[in-house]
Amino acid sequence: NPDLVEWSLTLPVLVLYPMLFAWLSHRTAVRLAEHKQRLEMMSTRDGMTGVYNRRHWEMLLRNEFEHCRRDRCTATILLIDIDHFKNINDTWGHAVGDEAIIAITRQLQMSVRSGDAIGRFGGDEFVMLFPAGMENRIEEIAEAILQKIAEAGIANEHSVVQPNLTISQGYACFVPEGTESGARLIEHADKALYYVKRNSRNAYYIIRE
Ligand code: GH3
Ligand code: MG
Repeated sequence: NPDLVEWSLTLPVLVLYPMLFAWLSHRTAVRLAEHKQRLEMMSTRDGMTGVYNRRHWEMLLRNEFEHCRRDRCTATILLIDIDHFKNINDTWGHAVGDEAIIAITRQLQMSVRSGDAIGRFGGDEFVMLFPAGMENRIEEIAEAILQKIAEAGIANEHSVVQPNLTISQGYACFVPEGTESGARLIEHADKALYYVKRNSRNAYYIIRE
């Protein structure tokens, strides 16, 4: 029967073609989603450490500042700079310097909550943004960070080098007013950091409203 032969030949195509098509579209959609996620990561994160890049962190700061202005809550940021980092580069080499930056990032990530946005601000500078309500716990946070940084070590291929890493921390806590912007917080955190650098290093200073 020719009809039956024709049917038995076309049936697999009728069934397989849509299945193949569905599978291919699904695979393409998954790949596109992965690609989009990768692009998002690349545009918001610092390549070396994986924390937020400066541009993205400043966007988060703008949002938090707006939120605190609306709700009259306190916005808190922290500016960190590694102490005598040039010496680490000069003594151990640039590669170990890079490892030190990564090791410090990991210790920072371990010493705060996942909601506290960490960003790399520049070479050896980091920033953190704390949610409203944390302003009463700054001393506790600062001590925890100093403690964690003191535990940082760098593994290289031969041994664990102990380049004696320390950092300085400058905090600014303010309730935003009127037409102010997040830049004001950064300015004050910078002043606080400068104060620590001038006086001692391996310490913190807080500027409150
Ligand atoms: P201070 O205690 O006053 O901060 O002294 P410092 O030596 O850390 O001085 P400063 O913060 O001005 O210098 C930072 C140095 O960090 C300068 C630059 O050579 C180095 N640096 C910046 N980015 C990188 C990086 O990605 N990798 C490495 N290895 N070094 C970097
Ligand atoms: Mg430094």
